Parts: sequence; C-alpha cells; structure tokens
Amino acid sequence: MTAMESAGGDGLPVRGLHVSVDADGNLDAWERFIREALPREGVNLLVLEVNYAYDYRSYPQVAERDALTREDVMRITSACRDVGIEPVPQMNCLGHQSWRGRSFGLLRAFPEFDERPDIPQDADQDALYCRSYCPLHPQVHEVVFGLMDELAEVFGAEQFHVGMDEVFLIAEDQCPRCAGKDPAELFAGEVSALANHLADRGVTTWMWGDRFINAEQFPTGKWEGSANGTWPAIDAVPTDIVICDWHYERAFETPAFFAEKGFGVVTCPWQKEDVALEELDIMRRLRERSDRALGMLQTTWCGFDAFVRAYNGELDPERRRSRNALGAANCFRTLFAALRGE
Ligand SMILES: [Zn+2]
Repeated sequence: MTAMESAGGDGLPVRGLHVSVDADGNLDAWERFIREALPREGVNLLVLEVNYAYDYRSYPQVAERDALTREDVMRITSACRDVGIEPVPQMNCLGHQSWRGRSFGLLRAFPEFDERPDIPQDADQDALYCRSYCPLHPQVHEVVFGLMDELAEVFGAEQFHVGMDEVFLIAEDQCPRCAGKDPAELFAGEVSALANHLADRGVTTWMWGDRFINAEQFPTGKWEGSANGTWPAIDAVPTDIVICDWHYERAFETPAFFAEKGFGVVTCPWQKEDVALEELDIMRRLRERSDRALGMLQTTWCGFDAFVRAYNGELDPERRRSRNALGAANCFRTLFAALRGE
C-alpha cells in the first residue's frame, strides 16, 4: 500500500507538505523532522523541490554547489518510507529557470536553451521575473528528460512534480522558434511532452495549476491564474496529471474546475490559516462528490532548513527574515490539526 492509499477519516488521500531543498542543508535536522514531526502531524506525502541541488551524473554541469549526493537522497527517502511518507521529487520545468536575472543550472550550462538569451544576467528581477527554457529547442528535452529520469530513479519515485508555475516568458517574439506561436499550444505541448515521458516510465506527473486558470473566469490575478494566454491548454493535455492548485490570499472554487476537467487536484495554502481552513472545507465538500479531490499540500517557500527551525521554535519572531518561515509553520500546524479532526 502506498502512502496515498491510506486516506484519513475524511477520505482525503493526500496530506502533503512541499519544501524547497537547500544545497548544503542540515540533513540531521531534516531527518529528525521527517521521522518525528511529520508522522505526528499526519503528513503522508513530502514534495521535495530539488531542481539543480542534486549531484547529477547525467549532466554534472547543471548541479549547484554543495548539491545533495545520492547518499543524501537515499537518507531522506529512507526516512520518509520508514514512517509511511511518500517522497516526491520536483524539478521546475519550463519556467523558474533564474532568480534576479541569474540563470540556474540548466541555462547556465546550456545558455542556448534560454527563451530570451538577449536579457542580461543582471536584469532587474521585477522586470524579468524568471527565465524560461525554450520548449521548441531541438536538444532541450534530451537534457531535461535525462535529469528527470535520474532524479526519479534515485528517489524511487512513483510521482514527479514538474513545477510549471508562473511561466511568463513563453512564445516570445525574440525567440526564432516560438515567435508568433500560440502560448496555449506551446504550453500544452510542453506539459504533454513531460507527462507522456513520465507516464511511459510508470510515473504520475504533478504540476502547479496556475497557467490553466483563466484569470478572467476566476479573479485570481495574473500570478495564481493566467492572464498570458496559456489557460486554453487545459483542454489539450493528458488528464492523468495531479494539479497542485495554489491560492495563498483567498480560497477559490478552482478545485472543482480541475476535477470537472478530469484531473486529480490538491489545494495548496501558504501562510494564511483562515484561507487554509476554508480551502480544506472546499476540498472536503468536493470529495463528497468527486474522487478527484485528493487533498491538501501545504507550501513553505522559505527553504527546508528555515521551515524546520521555524517549526521547532528556533527562529527569532522579531527578525524580519524569519516571518515567511514562521507564517508557513503556523499555517501547517493549523491545517494539519484540522485534517486530524482536532
Ligand atoms: Zn522558443
């Protein structure tokens, strides 16, 4: 039996936590947290956003400094499995390939994959947000699939999160391959390529849902929904994908939208406890009429180290940089108490 089959009293099979793996992280603290805190809270699935913080053998040139080794990953996945938690690796595909203009591992090693190589590495964060790789570059999938296969293999993954959120650089006029193309067709093509590749290996694809939500249909704004023409892609991708429907400021009825389109869906809160509880309520009501309502995935957005320290009461609440981690840790405790029926 996999962790996802052991549903709780309300029948929601996914009670998940999403963390971003830090290179050079505190493995001892992570392992203790996984073995002691997560079972106590009732977590049964842990998404570990690894990206390039793994010591890849297929393309060593993409790995971040102080990346996790194979032994580090085995230690984390063993801890998870010992306590009935399914570890799910994540590598951001398409978007989120840079921060503050500076390319992450893939585009640093293969700058020719950049959808907008004309944007300088010191570009303003607010103007650029994040780089994308070009989904039509003839060599990009050979590399991306190689990295995904390696990460899935070392995790022993049955499920793999491909990211795909907040893709703003797509169908750019400056890209000789993508200029003039429909962003929805390009987005659907990339989602389908990744999902079909994983399905061929018996692995289920997970991804963020924002680019599938029409921001004019649901008043989500341009981050949690799509105002850049990608949303019609939802009718052109395989439906055996689990959608991670993230909404941090207020709850929406979008899980029903995804379920009615044929997708499994989990709702993802962040820091606001009242929003998380309302989202849980929406998910529980949807579960009464749809098996595609799978559960909840708490997000953290502070790095695994900081989240563990916040959860353990080791961060100074007066420090400004502690706030995100403490907010997420408080929301996590509240959400999981509610999931346990407390
Ligand atoms: Zn392109």
